[in-house]
Amino acid sequence: MHARKPLVVGNWKMNGLKASASEFGRMVEGYGAGLRHRVQLVVCPPVTLLSTFAVIALGSRVGIGAQDCHPGTHGAHTGDISAEMIADTGAAFVIVGHSERRIAHRESDADARGKVKAVHHAGLIAILCVGETAEERKAGLALQVIDGQLEGSLPEGLTGDDLVVAYEPVWAIGTGVTPSLSDIAEMHAHIRLRLVERFGEEGGRIHILYGGSVKPSNASDILAISDVNGALVGGASLKAADFLGIASAY
Ligand code: PGA
Repeated sequence: MHARKPLVVGNWKMNGLKASASEFGRMVEGYGAGLRHRVQLVVCPPVTLLSTFAVIALGSRVGIGAQDCHPGTHGAHTGDISAEMIADTGAAFVIVGHSERRIAHRESDADARGKVKAVHHAGLIAILCVGETAEERKAGLALQVIDGQLEGSLPEGLTGDDLVVAYEPVWAIGTGVTPSLSDIAEMHAHIRLRLVERFGEEGGRIHILYGGSVKPSNASDILAISDVNGALVGGASLKAADFLGIASAY
């Protein structure tokens, strides 16, 4: 049995302006005592809204996270944001290695490893994303691909307390298609095994989130799977009713 509260994380991607603060406010308001008791809620808005959301979330126990960071601490990196800068906004989490960054920005496992390390050094929690493509799954390589991503992306010196892993099959993101419940169960059990090999007992407590087309209508089936300790939600995290609907599956 997983000892920690399940974690439901919203990834707003490149969506949201100042006016979206009211939608986020509705999420915070809806995160009442009953829900707070059962599940930890985190929202990762674009970096322009981090500070605003951190202020709105004050005292509510809704966590705030960023969607990426630079592996370095400071310096001549035009347009980049360090993990320390993210921590400075009041955020506590950083998504690392999302497939949209791996694909559009050609980020490698080594890049993800540097970022996880930076997040760790800044005292934040990394949400490391792993996931196979449709071709890799069809070729029977899904487990192997995830093994490679985990091995390549986890730096030395990391402890299980600083880490969340999100399994997000690339072909399930934003498509409305999800793997079968048994495929999700198989992958999560496999990731759990690897985390225990790597982190010992601590590995048994690391949250393993499922991500890819999670919505209120499929959340209870997916979140009931053993070793699914929460969800990373894209599209359905933009509206308070949907996002809270998913969290309420717990
Ligand atoms: P989706 O995105 O929920 O819109 O499929 C998930 C993600 O990319 O984290």
